Amino acid sequence: MTQRRIFITTALPYANGAFHIGHIMEYIQADIWVRFQRMQGNEVHFVGADDAHGAPIMIAAEKAGKTPQAFVADIAAGRKQYLDGFHIKFDNWHSTDSPENTELSQDIYKRLRAAGLTYSKPVEQFYDPVKGMFLADRYIKGECPKCGAKDQYGDACEVCSSVYSPTELKNPYSTLSGAKPELRTSDHFFFKLSDPECVAFLKEWLDAPGRLQPQVANKAREWLEGKGDRELGDWDISRDAPYFGIPIPDAPGKYFYVWLDAPIGYLASFKNYCDKTGIDFENFLSDPKTEQIHFIGKDIIYFHTLFWPAMLKFAGAPYKVPSHVYVHGFIQLGGEKMSKSRGTGLSPLRYLELGMNPEWLRYYIAAKLNGAVEDIEFNPDDFMARVNSDLIGKYVNIASRCAGFIEKRFKGRVQDPALWQNDATLANIRNEAPEIQGLYEQRDFAKALRKVMELADRVNKLVDSDKPWELAKQADKETTLHSVCTRALEAFRILTIYLKPVLPQVATNIEGLLGLPELTWADVDTPLSDKNAIGSYRHLMTRVDEKQLDALFELPKESKAVTASTPHPASPAKAEATPNPADKQTITIDDFAKVDLRIARIANAEHVEGADKLLKLTLDVGALGTRQVFAGIKSAYDPATLIGKHTVVVANLAPRKMKFGMSEGMVLAASGDAPGLFLLSPDIGAQPGMKVK
Ligand SMILES: [Zn+2]
Repeated sequence: MTQRRIFITTALPYANGAFHIGHIMEYIQADIWVRFQRMQGNEVHFVGADDAHGAPIMIAAEKAGKTPQAFVADIAAGRKQYLDGFHIKFDNWHSTDSPENTELSQDIYKRLRAAGLTYSKPVEQFYDPVKGMFLADRYIKGECPKCGAKDQYGDACEVCSSVYSPTELKNPYSTLSGAKPELRTSDHFFFKLSDPECVAFLKEWLDAPGRLQPQVANKAREWLEGKGDRELGDWDISRDAPYFGIPIPDAPGKYFYVWLDAPIGYLASFKNYCDKTGIDFENFLSDPKTEQIHFIGKDIIYFHTLFWPAMLKFAGAPYKVPSHVYVHGFIQLGGEKMSKSRGTGLSPLRYLELGMNPEWLRYYIAAKLNGAVEDIEFNPDDFMARVNSDLIGKYVNIASRCAGFIEKRFKGRVQDPALWQNDATLANIRNEAPEIQGLYEQRDFAKALRKVMELADRVNKLVDSDKPWELAKQADKETTLHSVCTRALEAFRILTIYLKPVLPQVATNIEGLLGLPELTWADVDTPLSDKNAIGSYRHLMTRVDEKQLDALFELPKESKAVTASTPHPASPAKAEATPNPADKQTITIDDFAKVDLRIARIANAEHVEGADKLLKLTLDVGALGTRQVFAGIKSAYDPATLIGKHTVVVANLAPRKMKFGMSEGMVLAASGDAPGLFLLSPDIGAQPGMKVK
């Protein structure tokens, strides 16, 4: 088999907020596929980057009192803990706000211009005279032209569902300054997607068998033929200053629209990586053998199957059109526990902070993913059942029942392979390798894992009937015990190869236990040798505890601010992970009395190094002493202004270990859908330690 050369990316997350579970799901999907390809001996380069440009970031940075560069650097600094935490192993993580991306974006633009595929024309757009900038539709509100409802966005009315253009709004205002926007005209640059050559190329590209999932190709074809829910038009690729982006060559005051340079960021990150590792970027890309593969969510198909391939095609070599775009659905929360929960989503950082095993989540997500564009559901009860019964009960169980005997009774040596290597059960397990391989390749991880668990079932049944724990008590059954445990351990070794793309850490631990070098796919056919020293068995994985799941879905105060982010088209899997808050339950006065609310004086407040959202507060709670509390209020308060203020603290909240230290309570603050966070304060005269009831 010849070695494949693959360059793989995931969608670039918009750098205005922390990762949510949708990002993590996509990275886990791609990471499993990448690890699988590496186990086949293929050459794989896996890169990501922050999508850093655009008006939302410019505005968010201004609000935070930072430069856009500093703002995105702070976001980028928070990425590693998630990626390392979930064993997501990118070879490189870069930014679209980088010299490589400027160079490549300007180069691709110049090539498209030379090919006659760009032009400029005047565009009429709302302008905020106070902020001195043109306004995207999302920054304009006004009264609905149909029903008159106030405070409606520029594209659709939330009250009567009418759709209109922002120029039709009555009494429009800028949400940035409140000023009445003016219609002004400015020249914009366009990419000529409607060019017949472009359309002909895309038709052919979409029709290539196996390039795209059928439903993705169909959707893109509808758009291309003008039959879809979006019109195929030329693409406005410029924005006027002030804009945080890449300047358009020979056009002072004009910048590339963030969506032009975002996908080029894939190449920029790869180029940055090539420069670090000595790979020749141009040679690698222009090699016809190279495969370029993008993993994305279903919300950004339009950009990745029309604009992106067309840009690359007409920019010419060394740029190459994507070999595949693999699309996944969204992850949603469901199940009974969620409907009773307190209205929070699944915070990946909270998951890690609680010490939950990242490989549980990798396994669960993999067990739900197939190669189609389907949404998957995270159901906490199902999560616990699958991890505990499949992963622990079926797979880990094999080793825990047999490895110890090999170590203690047979000096850590398996039986001579000549006695068992033609065993029929082992042959059956080995013979499944090509099928499981095919399922991984097709990204049908769900089916691959089902297959592996069926095999684990079979092995467990054999162990059940052989009963090594009883053989161990009979002096004359020494050889049988050796044989039974050896075969089970060899089966376990093969299953470990099959699961390694999903469970990299467990696999590494097992390689250590069995005294083996890094297992590759080809090792399926290399049985354990009696020369290997089997180490002493330690627990490979614990079971999921329901209490951890309960804690995971309790609302952590600081992550409420962390998850607030401006919607942006570049966000990959949108986490539609909020359960229905409609079912409000009442509580009794006794329930309320369980919450010990106290007046606290803020004795000290300070920034926390490395925390985007948190302030560290030292609270004087009178007779209850002092408490240290981390509060997610950094966006709203300068710590110096808080010192000496009185507020309300939940004093009997179980202390929580956070990355930055213990948090011993929670201060109360109000917030709504609009920006802003408001710390509660008692009327004058309230003293620290007083009960609030
Ligand atoms: Zn309306």
